[in-house]
Amino acid sequence: MLAPQPVLESRIQALGAQLFSLMDAHPSPGIFSKKGAYARVMEWSMRDPAFKAQLFRFVDVLPSLNSSTEIVRHLQEYLGDQAVELHPALKAGLGAAAFAPGLVAGPVKAQVTDMARQFVAGENARDLVKRLLVNARNGVATTIDLLGETVVSEAEADEFLQRNLAVLDTVAEALRKNPEPSFSDLGPENVPQPRLNLSVKISALTPEVHPADPENSIEALKRRLRPILRRAAEVGALVNFDMESYRLKDLTLALFRSILEEPEFAQGPAVGIAVQAYLRDAEGDLRGLIAWARSRSRRIAVRLVKGAYWDFETVIARQRDWPIPVWQRKPESDANYEALSLLLLENTDLITPAFASHNVRSCAHAIAQAERLNVDPRAYEFQALYGMADELKTALFKTGHRVREYCPVGELLPGMAYLVRRLLENTSNEGFLRARNLGEASREQLLLNPVDQLVSPPKKADLPPTPAPPAVPAGTVFRNAPNTDFTRSESRARLRAALSGASPANGAVRRWPLVIGGQKVEPSNGEYVASVNPARPSERVGQWARATIGDADRAVAAAVTAFPSWRATPVDRRAAVLERAADLMEARRFELSVLEIREAGKPWIEADADVSEAIDFCRFYAIEMRRLGSGQVTQRTPGESNLLVHTPRGVGVAIAPWNFPLAILCGLTVAPLVAGNCVIMKPAEQTSVIAAVFMDLLTEAGAPAGTVNLVSGFGEDVGAHLVAHPRVDFIGFTGSRAVGLKIWEAAGRTGPGQANLKKVVCEMGGKNALIIDSDADLDEAIPAALYSAFGFSGQKCSALSRLIVLDGIHDAFVERLLAAAASLPLGDPALPGTLVGPVIDGESRDRIMARIEDGRRQSRLAFQGRLPDSLSASGGYFVPPTVFTHVEPDHAIAREEIFGPVLGVMRARTLDEAFTLANGTEYALTGGLFSRSPSALARGRDELLCGNLYLNRGITGALVERHPFGGFKMSGGGTKAGGRGYLENFLFSRVISENTLRRGFAPPEE
Ligand SMILES: Cc1cc2nc3c(=O)[nH]c(=O)nc-3n(C[C@H](O)[C@H](O)[C@H](O)COP(=O)(O)OP(=O)(O)OC[C@H]3O[C@@H](n4cnc5c(N)ncnc54)[C@H](O)[C@@H]3O)c2cc1C
Repeated sequence: MLAPQPVLESRIQALGAQLFSLMDAHPSPGIFSKKGAYARVMEWSMRDPAFKAQLFRFVDVLPSLNSSTEIVRHLQEYLGDQAVELHPALKAGLGAAAFAPGLVAGPVKAQVTDMARQFVAGENARDLVKRLLVNARNGVATTIDLLGETVVSEAEADEFLQRNLAVLDTVAEALRKNPEPSFSDLGPENVPQPRLNLSVKISALTPEVHPADPENSIEALKRRLRPILRRAAEVGALVNFDMESYRLKDLTLALFRSILEEPEFAQGPAVGIAVQAYLRDAEGDLRGLIAWARSRSRRIAVRLVKGAYWDFETVIARQRDWPIPVWQRKPESDANYEALSLLLLENTDLITPAFASHNVRSCAHAIAQAERLNVDPRAYEFQALYGMADELKTALFKTGHRVREYCPVGELLPGMAYLVRRLLENTSNEGFLRARNLGEASREQLLLNPVDQLVSPPKKADLPPTPAPPAVPAGTVFRNAPNTDFTRSESRARLRAALSGASPANGAVRRWPLVIGGQKVEPSNGEYVASVNPARPSERVGQWARATIGDADRAVAAAVTAFPSWRATPVDRRAAVLERAADLMEARRFELSVLEIREAGKPWIEADADVSEAIDFCRFYAIEMRRLGSGQVTQRTPGESNLLVHTPRGVGVAIAPWNFPLAILCGLTVAPLVAGNCVIMKPAEQTSVIAAVFMDLLTEAGAPAGTVNLVSGFGEDVGAHLVAHPRVDFIGFTGSRAVGLKIWEAAGRTGPGQANLKKVVCEMGGKNALIIDSDADLDEAIPAALYSAFGFSGQKCSALSRLIVLDGIHDAFVERLLAAAASLPLGDPALPGTLVGPVIDGESRDRIMARIEDGRRQSRLAFQGRLPDSLSASGGYFVPPTVFTHVEPDHAIAREEIFGPVLGVMRARTLDEAFTLANGTEYALTGGLFSRSPSALARGRDELLCGNLYLNRGITGALVERHPFGGFKMSGGGTKAGGRGYLENFLFSRVISENTLRRGFAPPEE
């Protein structure tokens, strides 16, 4: 970053001081004014972070509450939280509110509406025109932002498009009647600039935004953007592309370039784009934009902001263990802002910079640099938000600068996300506005050069929020393997390359034999079975050996032989095999994903996540076994040592399903393996090639001969035989309820020669429910419900199949849900944008279709996706996503597990009824609740009986260690894969007690 020269720095200080004095001379009764409820509330928020969190949550939910009682209930629940220290008067008021909700709810709603009004310029185009004319009289220009983010359906996107077109027309008409440009509408040499500016957010343009599939997303976005650009060109408006969260950044940049390269838009309209200085990528992106503008001799406006999603980006990146894209110290963002300001000012021949900052130092720096470079002050502008930094707007205007106000318009409900962002900005610990307006920093401090702040040791507040973890020995702390970020073009290129390298012709000839006692062996009947791509069954993925009963017996014998020495192998060496396997899978992540795409029909992100989970199982169980391996002292007693140790059970079978073909097979195998057992893998028939590749990988990782054996074959014969085998000591099973129950029963029979009672670790299906409370955030709930129900065509035991919607919101929710379902990307899983691929095989397809037909007889078929002709022609096993409504508890759709893309919607009058419905199945695997009521969430925690309960999020996608996975009732035996304690299923515990007292003398206690 460029260190400013001393002269420049003193000019910045002088300009900063001048701006501050002008601000003092022109105070505005803005949001920090000491009068009014807003200021008081903001003051409390800044003093008490717990109050702030609860208050902002209340503001967020308020627009969805449609009765006084509900408003008061939520207010009491949020502000009555124990962590919140309330002013005694407020506490008393809150307590009394329940007796007269009508008296309290109205004023509360009015206060919040007032608060929103401080930041939102009006509800409609008429309000907007009024504001625009007031601004113009004050010499200030305007840019319009129609509130509304993230549309979930085409209908919503169409409506948003029409609103944009209408506002362009209305405002253009108003400007025609008021032709006099304001001071800020005139550029260098008084050349008029577009007076009408419209800001757009791409997430509001189409529901089909899938950053992993930029090509199709861009096409979908362009369909809605073209009419806007066309109309803007007609009325002489400038269209600015706002920048949203990081996942949309590359897509927004690509869209910007791509649509402007279309001949129709090569000359106009005027366009601009926001660049966020808080991003580490920002400089590269800005240089790219400038180079692009230069290559096309196209003038563009660039709005330089720091960025509005700092907390979100930090949290999401941490959650996913992806590199954090934003600077972690505030002065880094500030310094980058200055560096990018300079870059913009150096290119004003083609770029019109817009400095959008409320920070006096950032603005003063831009002015000083412009002076140094002799840039005409009219060649750039300042932008500030409506309702914020009014004094600064005046001060900048008074110093001869063009100022534009960013005016959001729209209704309160879509405005809440915007309002909460502004509230956060105004109360942010590190924000300029708060520091200045609350007098938390002196002017000198506020004008400090951010580069100097970076050189000096960081203040406590500048440090990344969580400290680095303490140093720990390798292999003792678990971290989830991060999934691939397919919004990155390099990641997409790697998977594409792997896909094109996996030639179907090779797959067809490759034969995968059995592996018994470390040897690759032909099946004794010589039979091989073709494995096919469910999206294109004519394509063979490979051929797997079909084991016979004799082969299965030989595998058991090999495992029995290998057992003693494997049991005696030190835990560390056993764990190292798993860790090497994890490393190998990480190194071959893309190759394995391709195999999952081709053999299991998994969409990209699902395939990649399955590989991550397999890696996680290896690393997690390795660590767990090290923990268990050292034994645990049961109780400290003088003169006696008491140690709990573990010993492996013996030989087991891992019977795995096809839906998580690598991860579940891996988990069921490596957990007992690292515990010292020997394992026979019996993978699902449909995904036996993946299993064979995994077998090779374990061998390469150092699993000794016979410790793991591969017996690919059919469940009815070899599977059943292995379960009943007297030398088999345990069975790990994941699959259907029918097979699971048979295994449970068969394992209970003790045969001659059997040494141990068989242990069964059994995971079966679910009939999982998600409840949508009447105050739920539908923008979040709808995508989460759709993904939970239809991701990987609903072929997950965790998938959502019963959506229970509270009466108050049922109709509105269902209408939006069905409209959104129509945008689900259905297709070939080899394509990056596909969310719903094929089901696993023809038998599944026919079974699911038959269930759908049956369902029609009882429930109402409200939505069924349309299969594109190309998919029907491929002969793939596709089932269109299907939604039934009017589902009653006794309907088959509500009771039977379908294991496909079929969702039933049920109506519940009360939360009690919703809980009863949710719990009213024979299963108890996953479940969820979307609600913004703390008491409803608390009840959900207590009353929703399932193994994995998810609140305010989708109900699939459990991660190892973070979400130990498994259910009860007919969903399983209550074990938790990927959780502490899981390995103990494969171990016997032994307690060793030793009298350490000899002749009255005991060694010192540890
Ligand atoms: C006209 C206008 C248009 C806007 N359009 C967009 C847009 O399209 N996209 C968008 O994202 N934002 C946009 N914004 C919002 C803008 O990003 C915020 O208002 C801005 O970040 C606040 O910066 P500041 O310079 O005013 O204040 P400052 O108080 O100087 O900076 C606050 C900013 O610093 C950054 N920050 C905070 N803590 C840290 C930390 N620990 N480490 C590193 N950085 C940190 C954050 O970006 C935070 O917002 C727009 C703002 C305006 C005025």
